[in-house]
Parts: sequence; C-alpha cells; structure tokens
Amino acid sequence: MDDALLQKIAKLKQQRKAVILAHNYQPGEIQDLADFTGDSLGLSIKAAETDAEVVVFCGVLFMAQTAAILSPQKTVLLPAKDAGCPLADMITTEQLRELRAKHPDALVVCYVNSPADVKAESDYCCTSANAVEVVQSLPEDKEIIFVPDQHLGSFVKKRTGRDLILWPGYCSTHVVITENDINSAKARYPDAIVMAHPECTEPVKELSDQILSTGQMLTFVVHSDAKRFIVATENGIIHTLKKKRPDAEFTPASERGICPNMKKITLDKVVASLEDMKYHIKVPEEIRLKAKKSLERMVETLPAT
Ligand code: SF4
Repeated sequence: MDDALLQKIAKLKQQRKAVILAHNYQPGEIQDLADFTGDSLGLSIKAAETDAEVVVFCGVLFMAQTAAILSPQKTVLLPAKDAGCPLADMITTEQLRELRAKHPDALVVCYVNSPADVKAESDYCCTSANAVEVVQSLPEDKEIIFVPDQHLGSFVKKRTGRDLILWPGYCSTHVVITENDINSAKARYPDAIVMAHPECTEPVKELSDQILSTGQMLTFVVHSDAKRFIVATENGIIHTLKKKRPDAEFTPASERGICPNMKKITLDKVVASLEDMKYHIKVPEEIRLKAKKSLERMVETLPAT
C-alpha cells in the first residue's frame, strides 16, 4: 500500500468533510481505506447517518444513486465514471412500463441493483438479503413482477411459493460460476461449506449448502465452526471474509468470479475524485422522491429488529 497516497486521501477527506464507502466486491486496498464497507443499501444508509458533506462511493453507479436518493443534501461522488452494472442496465423504465401495462394489477418489486428511475417506477425495492421477506409480505391475491434479476427472482419464487413474473436480467459475473466449478471445488475440499449468492444460477444454488447475500455470508462465517468455505460470488468478498475469520480458509468457486466494473476504482481515482469533486452523481428530484418511496415501503414490510 502506498503510504503517501493514503496520507493524501486522509488529508483530502478531512478538507472535504468526506466519508469513503466501499462495497464488499471492491479491491482489498480500497476496502482497507474505506470508513465503511458493506452492501449497497447498508452503505447508503450508513452514509445518510453521518454528518459528512461528501460521500465517495467506491462501487458502481446504481449504488452511488442509492446514496444520492437517501442523502440529497450530500454530494455523492463515484470515482470511476464508467463503473456501471450490466445487471442494472438490463431494464429500462420503458420496458418496465410495457410489462406493467400487460399486468396492470401487479405489484412491482425491484432489486436494489437497478437504475434510480426503475426504482421510481416500482412499488417496492428489495435487497438480496430481504427479497423473500418483502415478497412474503405482499397480499396473496396480487400478481408480482420481479425485476431485473431472474436468478434472485427464481430463488424468491422457490422460497415463497409465489408465482412471480420474472424479468430475464442476470449478473454477468455470477452466471459465469458453473456447476462444474462447484463440483470440482467440492471434490478438492470435501469438508468445505459452499456459500452461493442468490444471483448465481439455479444449478449452482442447488449444489450449495447456503444461499446467502454478501452481508449474510459475513455473519454466517462468524457463527460457523467450519474451517473452510467455498465462495460462489464476486471474489472481492474473500478479503472481507478473511478479516472476519482469520483462522478459516476461503476458496473462490471460480477464478472468473470478478466484476470488472467493481475493479475500476483505484487509489489514484479516489484521490482524483476528492481533489476534483468528480464524478458527481445526481438523481432528479422527482425520480429521487419516488425511488425513496419504494425503498421506504421495503423497510416498512420488514419485521422490526
Ligand atoms: S457483481 Fe454483478 S450485480 Fe454486482 S455490480 Fe457487478 S455486474 Fe452488477
């Protein structure tokens, strides 16, 4: 790690009254310099609770938008302008409106991995950790459209027994993990627990011991006695998992489980972001208010903790 660069970031952070957030899939060095690491919604909520004036979101565009939705008074920066999410880009508001027109009475549940304007067109937002609870809370007699991830959707369908109308979106990083990858990792490490993210394909999830969101994986390993885990999600999380359980071994299910967009953030780009206040992510107020509503409806459906 470059100490001079880290000192520069610390100084700039103070000058700008900034907080740095890093998603669990970020490169290790970015996670290590962040004030908070976690999942996209958890980070956006954390940022809203701080008195920082600037939020540097080390992640992808929809995450920075979510932070901007929850913190309109703060300046939200995404250090890499082109860090998008192919899954989020698989649905547009026009496509969602067309689908809605075919099912006018349906409720729309939208995964947080979606653009701000798609959230604004939806009734409820959900995360991979609470999608099952959100769908379960909806009236039995209502049709439900679930966008944009078909694999999270089919997981929710299975867990809830609800007949969801799925959008055919997918995460290009999770779908490259195959059954073969899981079978060969299991053959090498028969004692390991396989943890798969719900964005993985159905056959991969069927071969796994646990289907968990990133946050749930981090909690699960802390409470598990197992000494070895096979991890079927974006490999950046292994950095965080190792910190939680330094005594355990974590093996990626596939070396291909890398999201190129998540790796676009570098230390130099974080410096440039703070120096030049770029790239400022804004969500038009009309869209922001509607998207916030679908996030708030999600929170209202969940049991109090
Ligand atoms: S891992 Fe998948 S869902 Fe997450 S940012 Fe990358 S492409 Fe999008």
